[in-house]
Amino acid sequence: MYCEKVPVAEIADAVGTPFYVYSYRTFERHFRVFNDAFKKIPHITCYSCKANESSAILRMTARFGGGADIVSGGELYKALHAGIPANRIVFSGAGKTGEELRSAIRAKILMINIESEGELQAVSRLARTLKRDVPVSIRVNPEIDPRTHPYITTGLKKNKFGVLWEDAQRLYREIKKERFLAPVGISSHIGSQILELTPFVEAVRSLKSMIRQLKGDGITVRMVDIGGGLGITYKDELPPHPEEYAGVMEKELEGMGLMLILEPGRVLVGNSGVFITKLLYIKKIPGKTFYIVDGAMNDLVRPAFYGAYHEIMPVKKGRGDTIKVDIVGPVCESGDFFAKDRPIASVKDGELLAVLGAGAYGFSMSSNYNARRRVAEVLVKDREFYVIRKRETLRDLTRGESVPPFLKA
Ligand code: PLP
Repeated sequence: MYCEKVPVAEIADAVGTPFYVYSYRTFERHFRVFNDAFKKIPHITCYSCKANESSAILRMTARFGGGADIVSGGELYKALHAGIPANRIVFSGAGKTGEELRSAIRAKILMINIESEGELQAVSRLARTLKRDVPVSIRVNPEIDPRTHPYITTGLKKNKFGVLWEDAQRLYREIKKERFLAPVGISSHIGSQILELTPFVEAVRSLKSMIRQLKGDGITVRMVDIGGGLGITYKDELPPHPEEYAGVMEKELEGMGLMLILEPGRVLVGNSGVFITKLLYIKKIPGKTFYIVDGAMNDLVRPAFYGAYHEIMPVKKGRGDTIKVDIVGPVCESGDFFAKDRPIASVKDGELLAVLGAGAYGFSMSSNYNARRRVAEVLVKDREFYVIRKRETLRDLTRGESVPPFLKA
């Protein structure tokens, strides 16, 4: 297996396992295909940093002209640090702290997507104190079922995200009264790994109707933020092509004079990265074979968390015979698996396996559970590879910790 022109095994020899490897060219192509698809309408592709907030990925986004969708002060810091212009950054999230809001206001980001009445009050207070004009939008809950996994559905009435329209309308009126707040947009994000266009069409129609109602109240927004959520192929899914997505948006927004904000994450980075892990042991029990690998749920949690499917294949072509195995990690949880009853070309211990489609919500959701060091990340461009994050050291595992004096004796 190669990543661009580099044999994956060569990277493994250099950095050890497990690790993530990303292709510069794939990310670039995904970004450009997505962004160019919308070229007929004014838009900003605000890459959703949470999918993968490695600085190299953010810097690539900046280089390709992208903005950022952030959900924390940490992501704001990283996006700015990577050179993403503040006026291309939107701030989402249900629980922004005062400190995070202050940093966003000071940085003069494009807009803050407000998700509750309490947050609106906090932003108004800060705007008055700082005497800064703050562009805001309300993240409305369009009550659309995107028919995806319940954990990644965000636009239903029962979700913690966004504001119901009847409440949002009132909040917009309040914003209008505030001297330092400017209601520049309306936002929504209905979920992730969405494989049909209908939910997006329903969402944008619902936003259009809200925009018309706001006009009736004398409030004119100039940005419509449709969120992220376009799905990708993990197994045999057939998500809509960005051009089809752009086509329907173009049609829906024609003549409205709106700037479209998009917050794609997974569709840009998901299939730009794979996770490489080494087979440690083959363990057989009656009726089952386990491939125990050195990667685990703390490194890539999606299978454990959502029961997500990732294609897994040997880095070196297998010997042809296929066996059915559970591919599991060393973490002390039964949920620590990458695949169950999965037919795979049989390999020997010591060989490498590639977990595909791991570029999004892979490293960014990783943790130190079981005092496991977070893995290395590598970026490949053409014939070269670059370590964009070193594997953590044992020392990193105690960094920032301290032991009270009474325990030191
Ligand atoms: N925008 C918001 C507000 C989100 O919560 C998310 C993900 O949950 C995204 C964008 C990115 O979604 P995706 O990676 O599915 O494109």
